[in-house]
Order: sequence, then C-alpha cells, then structure tokens
Amino acid sequence: MSEVLVLVDHAEGEVRKTTGEMLTAARRIGDASAVFVGAGFDAAKEALAAHGAAKVYRLEAPEFDEYLVGPTAEALAQLVQRTGAATVILPSSPEGKEVAGRLAVMTASGVITDAVDVQAGEGGVSVTKSVFAGGWTTTSHVAKGVAIVTLKPNSVTAEEAVGEAADEVVEVEFSDVAKGARIVSSEEKAASGRPELTEAAIVVSGGRGTGGDFDPVEGFADSLGAAVGASRAAVDAGWYPHSSQVGQTGVTVSPQLYVAAGISGAIQHRAGMQTSKTIVAVNKDEEAPIFSMVDFGVVGDLFEVLPQATEKITGSQ
Ligand code: FAD
Repeated sequence: MSEVLVLVDHAEGEVRKTTGEMLTAARRIGDASAVFVGAGFDAAKEALAAHGAAKVYRLEAPEFDEYLVGPTAEALAQLVQRTGAATVILPSSPEGKEVAGRLAVMTASGVITDAVDVQAGEGGVSVTKSVFAGGWTTTSHVAKGVAIVTLKPNSVTAEEAVGEAADEVVEVEFSDVAKGARIVSSEEKAASGRPELTEAAIVVSGGRGTGGDFDPVEGFADSLGAAVGASRAAVDAGWYPHSSQVGQTGVTVSPQLYVAAGISGAIQHRAGMQTSKTIVAVNKDEEAPIFSMVDFGVVGDLFEVLPQATEKITGSQ
C-alpha cells in the first residue's frame, strides 16, 4: 500500500479531533503516516498511535514553533520527495488550505480542498466534496502529481485502530525550510475558556434575532460548557468574529447538541450544522424554516427562553 502523509492538527501537542478523522480517512487508502510539526510531540504520541499512524515524522525545530505555513509546506514537499507518498491529507482550516496550496505549487501537483470523504479509487484516491450548500456531491481525483487533499472537520468519523498502530517515530532533518519566514505579528487567542467550535460537543449559536446582544447566547453556552457559533447575518453585522460563523462559508460543526437561537435556518447555515446529532431551535416565528429540521423547537423570544434555561441548568448544578 502506498504511504499517505497526514499533517497533524494540534495545539502544543494537544491533538485536535480532526487529526483522528484524517488518520481514519488515510487508513482507507494506504499506510497512514502522521507528520507532526512543532513543539509538544510527547503529548501527542499516544493519540497518533491510537488512530493508527503506522509511522510518525517528527519535525521539531524553532522554525516550526509558530506553525508558519511557509516552513511547513517546504518541509512537507521535502518529505513527499523522500517518501514517494502519493497522497497528503491536511485539515481544511485556513492554515491547512494555505499549506496545501503552497505544497501543490512546490510539487507540481493538484489540490482538492474541503473534501468530506476519501476512498481508494481509479487513478489513486477518489475525493468526495459536498457543494452548493450540501445540495450536490461531487467525486473527483487528482490527475497529476501527488493528491493533496484538505479534509473538512467532522465529515469522517474518527475510528481507533485496534492492534494496528506501530510506534515508529522518524526524526526528520530539513534543509532551508525557514527561508524568508518571519513572524511579523501574532494575535493572542481569546481567553473565553470555551471549547473550540469544531471540537465542541455542544454548540450554541446566535443569529440576527439577537439584535447584536449575544449575552443570553453566551450565558447559556457557558452553563453547558459549550462553544459559541454565529450565523452569517450576525457575523456580517460585526456582532461576532468570522471564525465563529457556522455554515457554507464558515465552519462545519457536528456536535452532540446544536442550539440555534434567533436563526432562521437558511440553506447556507444548515450546510454547516445539519449533521449535528440533536438540533434545538429557539425562534419567535413558528414558521421559521429552522423548525423543519429540529429535534426540539421552542417558539419564543430568545431573551426570555435562554436566560430561563440557563437559570434552570446553573440552579441544578
Ligand atoms: P435571519 O434570516 O434574518 O433570521 C433571524 C431569525 O431570528 C428569524 O427567523 C426571526 O424570527 C428570529 N428572531 C428575531 N428576533 C428573535 C428573538 N428575539 N427571539 C427568537 N428569535 C428571533 N449564512 C450562514 O449562517 N452561514 C454561512 O456560512 C452562510 N454562507 C452564505 C453563502 C452564500 C453564498 C450566501 C448567498 C449566503 C450565505 N449565508 C450564510 C447567509 C444565509 O443565506 C442567511 O442570510 C443567514 O444565514 C441568515 O442569518 P440569520 O438566520 O441569523 O438571520
């Protein structure tokens, strides 16, 4: 079987759920090898083995500490050349896509972004994408060079590899990867203490119905230990950051519980949350389209319903 390189998605060694999903997808099409870039490898080792990384390439050097896309792409290009890997899978995050694009140029290969599935197929790997807000599914393959694929979070279910994992760790030396790379600014992560949107088991999202006041949404989210999301209307109005936008042009979430408050349920919003296990909506319009897809719906004003629900939860804790 050919080798499939998976760029590990992690924060200081804390492996994100996407990594298990990418390794699971990689194992379907070849021998999965994890590529760990940056600091914190010891914390990540167990999770990588559990998800069936047959081999781990470890790149730990100061150049990688800030997860700069340039050095990462350059290092992956060198690794592709050394290993002869036919496929590289990366997370569909803004950074993952930028690394993928650069890697495609460096290796004269094709790239497919936002995949929801990969399978072994004719001409190597067959890549499935969901397009037009989930209305259509396309299957394609990369005809030239290495197949570089970014996988959307929550589209493949991460499976543990029973008895398959090897623990071969290859320390890799690279030449010249930091050429021209320099941090000119960096943003401190918001210290909300909430889980990451794509990782959270519960997501509470607010829309235009909040009128810009996200206090009830955040209060309810915090009572449940949930992440906070937003509709595009709320993001476009400047009420919440774009990184929190759920939907076709935002992130895809697939939590155990998704609560939509003051969100009408446009098809582009559904595209980012319709695979959630249980969906609850709070909307004062009983005709709102969101009610056609929910498990539980509350017709009411979010400024009354959410604080009451928050009080119930915090009161019972
Ligand atoms: P609205 O549609 O205005 O709905 C507001 C809802 O709040 C209404 O149903 C109203 O009854 C309810 N409400 C009002 N006040 C209250 C209250 N006090 N209590 C309870 N309920 C109340 N949208 C996304 O979300 N994500 C995307 O990624 C995205 N991508 C897009 C890409 C393209 C190419 C296009 C064309 C559109 C995209 N959109 C996306 C926009 C999408 O079409 C909708 O316009 C958007 O989702 C609407 O947001 P909303 O539901 O918050 O607002």
